[in-house]
Amino acid sequence: LMMTKEDVLREANEKGVKFIRLQFTDIFGILKNLAITIEQLEKALDGEIMFDGSSIEGFVRIEESDMYLRPDPNTFVVFPWRPGDGAVARLICDVYHPDGTPFSGCPRSTLRKALKEAADLGYTMFVGPELEFFLFHVDSEGRPTTITHDKAGYFDLTPIDLGENARRDMVLNLEQMGYEIEASHHEVAPGQHEIDFKYSDALDMADKMVTFRFVVRTIAQRHGLHATFMPKPIFGINGSGMHVNQSLFKNGKNAFYDPENEMGLSKIAYNYIAGLMKHSRSFTAVTNPTVNSYKRLVPGYEAPCYIAWSGRNRSPLIRIPAKRGASTRVELRSPDPSCNPYLALAVQLKAGLAGIKNNLTPPPAVDLNIFAMNDSQRKELGISSLPGDLAEALEELGRDDVIKEALGEHIMNRFIEAKQKEYDNFRIAVHQWEIDNYLETY
Ligand code: GLU
Ligand code: MG
Ligand code: MG
Repeated sequence: LMMTKEDVLREANEKGVKFIRLQFTDIFGILKNLAITIEQLEKALDGEIMFDGSSIEGFVRIEESDMYLRPDPNTFVVFPWRPGDGAVARLICDVYHPDGTPFSGCPRSTLRKALKEAADLGYTMFVGPELEFFLFHVDSEGRPTTITHDKAGYFDLTPIDLGENARRDMVLNLEQMGYEIEASHHEVAPGQHEIDFKYSDALDMADKMVTFRFVVRTIAQRHGLHATFMPKPIFGINGSGMHVNQSLFKNGKNAFYDPENEMGLSKIAYNYIAGLMKHSRSFTAVTNPTVNSYKRLVPGYEAPCYIAWSGRNRSPLIRIPAKRGASTRVELRSPDPSCNPYLALAVQLKAGLAGIKNNLTPPPAVDLNIFAMNDSQRKELGISSLPGDLAEALEELGRDDVIKEALGEHIMNRFIEAKQKEYDNFRIAVHQWEIDNYLETY
């Protein structure tokens, strides 16, 4: 469904919209917005709204700070939880230079660039993500805690699932915003939830992913809870992943499907899997961008840490869900929901396309439990590990030309610089673990 400027103006007036939030993300995927009133909407849709980019993380130097927002009319949506009178809507924007060229620090434009490359080869990328999150209580001052009174587990029902009212409200609001919710359920850990929505093309889905985090947090707050997409908020129980189911379509057909193949997968699918595996160590800094991300990627909590793929098994990095035909897809299980969805999808796509262009073949599928193997057994099968921490991931990121091309020089440099600083801050901090283990011993 393609919306025009006129469609947006008409709908905004019909729905009594007073305020419009012009949204975009910084390189870390944090949603930024500039609020305008309905009187300025036409000007905004003509791309005439300017802002100062120098105060946005990872954007630009002061000397070159004038940026323009170009709203995508297809992203127009009214926030259902706001009053109908003086309603609030949003538009997601691409960021442009005053001279009319796309800004190289704009994550959405970066994804567009990767999608264009796929399109030139005849491919459209479809994505179905599974975002997990925790619902925690807030303290008497309204500050988030890591406390959940919920004792429920996987797929449990009320009355033990205290977050269920909040989750139901999230689903209702998301549906009103055009999401087709396929499933929502309690996840394995206490206080942990997942809401899955129907797959869509990658750009629309990246918009949906950033919006999802915002909606979930907003609705949780209205229920007196704090929603967090932090990957591993509590040691000793499962963390939150963001599995990315992905496929390429060509001429309206799923290019990963081949009924003649023993696994029902096409040569393109094998190439794509091989590309993802080859570049996985280097794109992990993007799909798992926080210090905390690496506390999730450890054995024992249904998150991957070894680079392998399987048709059945859930322990490897890549799983091939059972559905075939138009639903044939590759599920990458390492990403977590603290990532920038635009950049995370761009690097996965570029890795997969590199696999296709270079006709890469993946190693044999591993249908055994990799976690039960020892180091030498894994070595024999050629199974290596994902980076163990952010520092290692950043080192790998800086070395990979395919991923560098996906991000572009501007984002690559700013990303590494800022994340290195983040890691250094963590490295020199004294953590509770050290106090617990050393204070009395030494
Ligand atoms: N929470 C797990 C993770 O960290 C995934 C559980 C699942 O298979 O849905 O990725
Ligand atoms: Mg899950
Ligand atoms: Mg999954």
